[in-house]
Amino acid sequence: MPSHSLRDAARRIGVEGGFSVVQDFLRFLHGVPDQISVGTHIRHMHGPFVNLNLIRVASDHFTGTDIANLDTVIQDIRDIYAQVSLGANVEHFVIDGADAEGFRVLTKQSRVNKLMKTFRGPGDRTIDVFFVLVLEVGNAIGQAAGPDSPTECKDKDKHGRRGVVVGMNFAGSGLGPQPQLKIARSLLGLVAAHEIGHLLLGPDHSSDPDNLMRAGGEELTDSQRETIHASCAVRDHQ
Ligand SMILES: [Zn+2]
Repeated sequence: MPSHSLRDAARRIGVEGGFSVVQDFLRFLHGVPDQISVGTHIRHMHGPFVNLNLIRVASDHFTGTDIANLDTVIQDIRDIYAQVSLGANVEHFVIDGADAEGFRVLTKQSRVNKLMKTFRGPGDRTIDVFFVLVLEVGNAIGQAAGPDSPTECKDKDKHGRRGVVVGMNFAGSGLGPQPQLKIARSLLGLVAAHEIGHLLLGPDHSSDPDNLMRAGGEELTDSQRETIHASCAVRDHQ
C-alpha cells in the first residue's frame, strides 16, 4: 500500500503551507474525538470523496457541547461512508447575528424551506448541511432536499432548496453510544449521514433495519456503493 503524506493529501483538498492537522486537515472544531483514524481519512482523500459545507445556523448560540457534538458527527459521517470507500471533506460556515433571525428554532416546514432558499454554501457539487439549534417539524429529526439527477448536480442558485437540515436538539436526547442500537454511533451522526444519503442515493428508504437508509441503521450495500460513487456530488482525484 502506498504511503501518503498528510501534507500531500492536504494539498489535494486545497490546504497549503503550514497547518494544524486537527483543525485544518481533519476539520474538527474542537479536537480529535476518540478512536479517530487519521490513516483512513488520508487514504480517502486520495480516492473518491464528497465535499460537505457544515453550516451552523445562529452559530453565536452554539455551546461548547454543541461544538463537541458536531466533531463527533463529522467522525460518524466519515466512519459510515468509509464502508463504501468514500471520504468526506468538510468546510465550516456560520450564519450569525441578524442573518440568523427566525432560523434558530424551526417548527414549520416553510421555515426549513426558507432557510435552504436563503442560504447556500459554495460549490454546486458540495452538499450543504445546515445545523439548527432546534428542529421540530412533525417527527422528523432531519430533512433533505435533493433535486439532483444521479449524474448532474443542479445549479444551487436556480434550485434554491437543496441540502440537509439537522437539529442539534436531538444531540441532547442521547449523543454517544446508543444502547438501543447495535453500534457506537451518535444519533446526530446517524441522522446527518442518513440525510446526506438521500442526496447521494435519492429519496427511497431501505427495508433492512441495519441499512443507513432506514432509521437507526448504518450499513450500506454494494448496490448503494455503486450509486454513491456515480453521484454528481462525489469527486475523484485518481
Ligand atoms: Zn430518510
